[in-house]
Amino acid sequence: MRPDLTALRQDFRGDIRSEYDPGYEAARVLFNTRIRTRPAVLCRCADTRDVVTAVRFARDAGLPVAVRGGGHHASGLSLVERGLVIDVGGLRGIALDRDAAEVTVGPGAGWRDIDEITYGEISVDGFDGVPSGWAVPGGECPTVSNAGYSLGGGYGLLSRRFGLGCDHIVEAEMVDAGGRVLRVTEDEHPDLLWALRGAGGAGFGVVTRLRYRLDQVPKTVVGGFISWPVAQAEDVFRMYRDLYADRDDDRLALCLLLGTDPYPDGDAAITLYGLYVGPPAEAAAALAPVRSFGKPSADTFGELSYLELMRALGEEIPYGLQSRWRGGYFHDRGFDDDAFGTMLEHFARRRSGYSMIRLDLLAGGAIARVPADATAFVHRSALHYVSVVSLWQDDADTAANVAWADDLAGALGPHLTGEVYQNYADTELADWPSAYYGTNYPRLRGIKRRYDPDDFFHHAQSIRP
Ligand SMILES: Cc1cc2nc3c(=O)[nH]c(=O)nc-3n(C[C@H](O)[C@H](O)[C@H](O)COP(=O)(O)OP(=O)(O)OC[C@H]3O[C@@H](n4cnc5c(N)ncnc54)[C@H](O)[C@@H]3O)c2cc1C
Repeated sequence: MRPDLTALRQDFRGDIRSEYDPGYEAARVLFNTRIRTRPAVLCRCADTRDVVTAVRFARDAGLPVAVRGGGHHASGLSLVERGLVIDVGGLRGIALDRDAAEVTVGPGAGWRDIDEITYGEISVDGFDGVPSGWAVPGGECPTVSNAGYSLGGGYGLLSRRFGLGCDHIVEAEMVDAGGRVLRVTEDEHPDLLWALRGAGGAGFGVVTRLRYRLDQVPKTVVGGFISWPVAQAEDVFRMYRDLYADRDDDRLALCLLLGTDPYPDGDAAITLYGLYVGPPAEAAAALAPVRSFGKPSADTFGELSYLELMRALGEEIPYGLQSRWRGGYFHDRGFDDDAFGTMLEHFARRRSGYSMIRLDLLAGGAIARVPADATAFVHRSALHYVSVVSLWQDDADTAANVAWADDLAGALGPHLTGEVYQNYADTELADWPSAYYGTNYPRLRGIKRRYDPDDFFHHAQSIRP
């Protein structure tokens, strides 16, 4: 039966799309096109008042809700079948406070739009007199929302140096299950602030504004990528492991990608990308073990701005594909020859030229300097993370590509701790509370009971009251 939307349409200032409105499909589709969930109504909010209206309407109508930002959830939990989606992706305001070195943003703003203002337009004398701009450690993808990213943790190339996105949240505005607008700071609702720093997408409310502290990032960094043919991959894996063994250089942030270059029909290649966050004069020594290694097929490392580097990395992201995302954190000694062999063997059998294996996360550095119970984000110590990302186009290929990701994830199991990054959500996990939140889960449940005892903001992996 169609829900009666008359009352909602009266008060709502943004855009409302029901299944029967033109443009519904385009408004519904997520980054992962495998997700076919069909909500009854999508409410694209124009401001916080619209969020309050949508929450109260859904409550009165008895409709289940989902909260949507940039629509990049790997498993689609930002949509709800036959329910109402509160979409805050259009709230994209950005206000820089120069005196405080903080930025206040709408939840839907992307990191490049934020960097443009805080880093591109700002020039200050940084540490050691190095000309610098400001930035929050954002991710590579320009269309991921800052809120979706930071509320679940937020790893970017600046995170080893400065910490996670969630570690930079100093204030949030949140609409709770009763439609109240809460100001959340260290002084007001401090427990809720603790929960939003890592579990903010897991059913506490709708975040309508975030204030972040900013870090000084040099105007010129040394960054880029280096690729080697896949035949050298085993040696590259070892070099990469040894680069970080017993070393806590928080200025060197490098990720590794096993993929097809160019996808989907090019050659298999292993690519190292990232940057040195420090004076360019010091970068050559830090990068020497990498740049002198093997016989690369390409090496673009050089001086550029942080913003240019992040834009270039974002251009590599393929849109409009179906996906399955599995993975986990490696044991300290699990990132070994056996794991490298397993990844290479499975990679050779990939079912799509878009699929990739990313060793994309490094903890340590500033991430590890925050205690695991200081925020809801518990994964502070494991150094390496593997993302098995299966990507394909046609429905006919779904079963084979899902099986490829699942088989590799299964084979890597003995090397992994069982912890999984909540922002790379995996609905196949039997015990997702432990995998995502570990020992922080009981405290999260207590906070959920206080702010949403009826479990209004419920999804398959939301905190249970
Ligand atoms: C191509 C790609 C690249 C990525 N790169 C990185 C990366 O470099 N580093 C990294 O850490 N992660 C990365 N991610 C993961 C990404 O951070 C998460 O998927 C994130 O949750 C996406 O947020 P979103 O708002 O775009 O997605 P959505 O699907 O809209 O939302 C994701 C989750 O957050 C909740 N949520 C979103 N906004 C709000 C809000 N305002 N209030 C309350 N809850 C909210 C939703 O309900 C949902 O549960 C990447 C993902 C993709 C697909």
